[in-house]
Amino acid sequence: MTFDLTPEQDQLRDAVRALGRRYGHGYFVEKAKAGEHTTELWAEAGRLGYLGVNIPTEYGGGGGGITELAIVCEELAAAGCPLLLLVVSPAIAATVINRHGTEEQRKRHLPGLADGSQKIVFAITEPEAGSNFHRLGTVARRDGDDWLLNGRKCYISGVDEAGHVLVVARTEDASTGKLKPALFLVPTDAAGLTRSKLDMEIVSPENQFLLYLDDVRVPADALVGESLDAGLPALFAGLNPERITVAAMGAGTGRYAIERASEYTATRKVWGGRSIGSHQGVSHPLAHAAVQVELARLMIQKAATLYDSGRDLEAGVAGNMAKYAAGEAAALAVDTAVQALGGAGMTTEYGVATLLGAVRAGRIAPVSREMILNFVAQHVLGQDKSY
Ligand SMILES: Cc1cc2nc3c(=O)[nH]c(=O)nc-3n(C[C@H](O)[C@H](O)[C@H](O)COP(=O)(O)OP(=O)(O)OC[C@H]3O[C@@H](n4cnc5c(N)ncnc54)[C@H](O)[C@@H]3O)c2cc1C
Repeated sequence: MTFDLTPEQDQLRDAVRALGRRYGHGYFVEKAKAGEHTTELWAEAGRLGYLGVNIPTEYGGGGGGITELAIVCEELAAAGCPLLLLVVSPAIAATVINRHGTEEQRKRHLPGLADGSQKIVFAITEPEAGSNFHRLGTVARRDGDDWLLNGRKCYISGVDEAGHVLVVARTEDASTGKLKPALFLVPTDAAGLTRSKLDMEIVSPENQFLLYLDDVRVPADALVGESLDAGLPALFAGLNPERITVAAMGAGTGRYAIERASEYTATRKVWGGRSIGSHQGVSHPLAHAAVQVELARLMIQKAATLYDSGRDLEAGVAGNMAKYAAGEAAALAVDTAVQALGGAGMTTEYGVATLLGAVRAGRIAPVSREMILNFVAQHVLGQDKSY
């Protein structure tokens, strides 16, 4: 057992950290408040090869795994730039296409995802189905060689920045009750696909959308994989990378908040010559949050290692636990940091309250803490399903 990164992973961590710090949280918030995207950071990360670390070299990537992508997610977040689209585009979309797409789809999409010139976002959530994806109502129907898609999706991140949406639909002939999901690569400018931006209470340069699919016509090769049988495995292929990378983003955000607060409490003096951090009422909550973040990081490392060794089932358990732990730890760390900074904690300048919405959302999305507890109760503790 080793807890050390390889020299290459160490170098990656240092390089991504340096890139993230050059942009920093001020840049992230400025973009968010101006209604703009972190285009420059994304483009530079792509040029430097960080967005494609998990994509095979023959498609322009770095040939690494989810361990490497988790490092990228964590270090950018630890520099104050938690980019949700890293979870959606390189983690979910690139994994799904690489593992279950056709060779033609790999050649067409992976190089652009690797160098950051293309983003593919992911649409599964629906207003009526919520956490229960067995109730998906978006339907794909054959029409000659084409597919016609109809349905509604909600909270879909980054549609305004992406060339394609990876849409999860059910095939119409699955009316026997058995879900037969299928994934489609739908161009964001396809006729019949419209969107409306949701107003979210999250300071983020990335937006969420309602998507309406009204007779969206896509060609046969928009279906991910060689046949409809690829649907379910393709859908599941995206889940572990999603959980692991979103957990890494949470852990990085937690580290960022604790670092901001520790710098402040070590130097701020309001009672005689002592720093406020010398009072245990201030330092212990920060130390407690630091322990929670570090525990989550360990679980993330375990989940990523299992996933990269092809142990998908074990990675599923570890990835869900890592996501739960990191979501809780990030929310605790940011809240604790705000408290430790006092009034400064609520200012934009000190850059911690700006993360409150994002870490709160991290306990809901992409999978809620309750659904993870359901998963652990059933698959680890052997409990019956209540729903
Ligand atoms: C910032 C943000 C970005 C997002 N980006 C995307 C995206 O890019 N693509 C995408 O497809 N989706 C996206 N989502 C959607 C997200 O994945 C869902 O919000 C999430 O899965 C929960 O679904 P829901 O909102 O429908 O909640 P519901 O399913 O309505 O659940 C509401 C509450 O009830 C709880 N609950 C429901 N069922 C049970 C049960 N059986 N047992 C216990 N508790 C239960 C849930 O845990 C939750 O707390 C995003 C959401 C947010 C907030």
